[in-house]
Amino acid sequence: MALSPWVQSLVRKEVASLEPYDPAFTPCDVNLSANENTWPHSEVFRQDLDLALSQVQVHRYPDPLAHNLKNSLAQWLGVAPEAVIVGNGGDELLFNLFLAFGGPGKTLVNLPPTFSVYELYSQLLGTRVVNVWRDPETFAPLWDQTLKDAASADIVVVTSPNNPTGDLAPLDRIRELCECCPGVVMVDEAYGEFASPDSSAMPLLGRHPRLMVLKTLSKAFGLAGARLGYVAASPEIIDVFAAVRQPYSVNSFSQAAAQVALSHKGELLKTVASICQERASLAQQLRALGCEVWDSEANFLMVRLRHAHQIRQALIDRYSILVRDFSHSPGLRDCLRITVGTPEENRSVIKAFRELLSQGTSS
Ligand SMILES: *Cc1c(COP(=O)(O)O)cnc(C)c1O
Repeated sequence: MALSPWVQSLVRKEVASLEPYDPAFTPCDVNLSANENTWPHSEVFRQDLDLALSQVQVHRYPDPLAHNLKNSLAQWLGVAPEAVIVGNGGDELLFNLFLAFGGPGKTLVNLPPTFSVYELYSQLLGTRVVNVWRDPETFAPLWDQTLKDAASADIVVVTSPNNPTGDLAPLDRIRELCECCPGVVMVDEAYGEFASPDSSAMPLLGRHPRLMVLKTLSKAFGLAGARLGYVAASPEIIDVFAAVRQPYSVNSFSQAAAQVALSHKGELLKTVASICQERASLAQQLRALGCEVWDSEANFLMVRLRHAHQIRQALIDRYSILVRDFSHSPGLRDCLRITVGTPEENRSVIKAFRELLSQGTSS
């Protein structure tokens, strides 16, 4: 739904064409639409979390740069604390990326189908977007064209594993991008913990001062509600993020929750390993039912099947299962994105697909 004409005449031209954000959320028993970690936290984790939250000094402003948390994150990542900054979710840091490095006269190289937020923030802040569409069948980026366009770009964003297609960007390509792009290269690793550890661009940071890596506690760490993301980069780049951010964007409760999550990372990363096992079995079963399923290094699967849109509606209406509909998105005809859930949730998904597909909804 577009904005009312009379307010359109009041706002900046970049804003006039926007629509209020509506993710078409429908409450369902099984929600596998937003790539959250749906595995329950352990009882000890929950107790530690409740205790930490109960001790938050809510009458005080939060520590603006979250020093304690930053130190814990830096220690875990094996980088200096000056090389890390936190944000109100990865989303805030992406906004600040475009706020600082984008704007009128600046250019983003984007590799769709990918996370829609990059293009939204670019548009909002007046950044020109050069889209290099991925191969329509494999979803692999067209690297030669990407490198060519990156040679005159101010920002390149590479999502690895990519949302919603699940594939990794090879590190050699990231290295080449850093060498040929005169601007900044952002590698969005929101799902990095679900991929093999040697796929991360983190080790490249030391040699490429214009490279940055985005991470979040929303996905693998099961803390989507706490809104805690972070960027690792050279200290000079981190200073830019520190200069443009809203001072108190990361509240005290979120900082406390993030500390608890980090102190339980052993347990959380075990859950991540289980989710990866579930991913393999879910993919295999969906393929056996005749769906096209792309290999995924994240906690979701990209699935193509006939009448995807109707199947997704039937999942809601008859099974109270919510998955993400991309069937009408450019380049993603008949595609659904299914978050890998708990074993029980995944069994419900398979049962529902088996029944819906055998009833000939797809014929
Ligand atoms: C979920 C996600 C993020 C950030 O999520 P936050 O909850 O804002 O931390 C960033 N990039 C991609 C590709 C994502 O899917």
